[in-house]
Amino acid sequence: MFSGMPEPLYAASPSRLLAWLDCPRRYRMQYLDVPRPVPRPQRAHTSLGIATHNALRDWWDLPDGRRTPAGGGRLVEDAWIDVGFRDAAQSRTWRDRTRQHVTAYLERVDPWRVPRGIERTVAMVTGPLRLTGRVDRLDDRDGELVVVDYKTSRRPPTEEDARTSLPLALYAASVWKMFRRPTFRVELHHVPTGAIVGHTHTPESIARKVDEAQSIARDARAADAEYATQGRASDRFPPRPSALCAWCDFRAHCPEGQATGPEKSGWAALEETAP
Ligand code: SF4
Repeated sequence: MFSGMPEPLYAASPSRLLAWLDCPRRYRMQYLDVPRPVPRPQRAHTSLGIATHNALRDWWDLPDGRRTPAGGGRLVEDAWIDVGFRDAAQSRTWRDRTRQHVTAYLERVDPWRVPRGIERTVAMVTGPLRLTGRVDRLDDRDGELVVVDYKTSRRPPTEEDARTSLPLALYAASVWKMFRRPTFRVELHHVPTGAIVGHTHTPESIARKVDEAQSIARDARAADAEYATQGRASDRFPPRPSALCAWCDFRAHCPEGQATGPEKSGWAALEETAP
């Protein structure tokens, strides 16, 4: 950079910002190292999550007469990803269970109320950050835009999760900028239980989250810049061992993470979910 030139923007998704916060070493391996360390194979709950999201996306493309709860359930079968499960029987069990969950969830969705966006890419520039992300569903409810995020995780999310979620607040801010319509309402839809929790932000709470994202972006941008000159010798990417290490895709390359305890199996999250 020449003196007087503005610093380049830091391009990131909400996931990248959170990766930096969770563990700088994992962030480095996931986003900076070349060649990228080989991550562990995809886990079963990730396969389940992708299949669920894809089915709920494709449901809106079905012709009117087939956009039914049962039609959504059939889409789960089409979208199923048979990766990460203990064996074929476990995969079949979870495919059938997920089909039931999606079917039950869609019983409460009006097929005639087509959302304003489905897997809508959103973006904004704020301070040092060029943010891009994807909103699972953007509802237009009588003129109010609502950010909807599907969840397939073990435990149902809480209202506190919706209130404190950095990605949801950043999606709302991006939608607000792109559509030029104030957007305050964010919701988490837990597909396995049908539970919906939400939070209605204020302009001030959105601004606080945007400030937080800018602060993370400044730190990560400085770390990226140091990596560009020092590579792996940079000390800005220490491991941050925690309970997350049991699930980390890069722990095979991280002795500190391995020292925290055994790795979770590819299907561990499902077994903990099972009734
Ligand atoms: S195993 Fe733990 S400490 Fe190591 S990179 Fe992964 S999250 Fe970070």
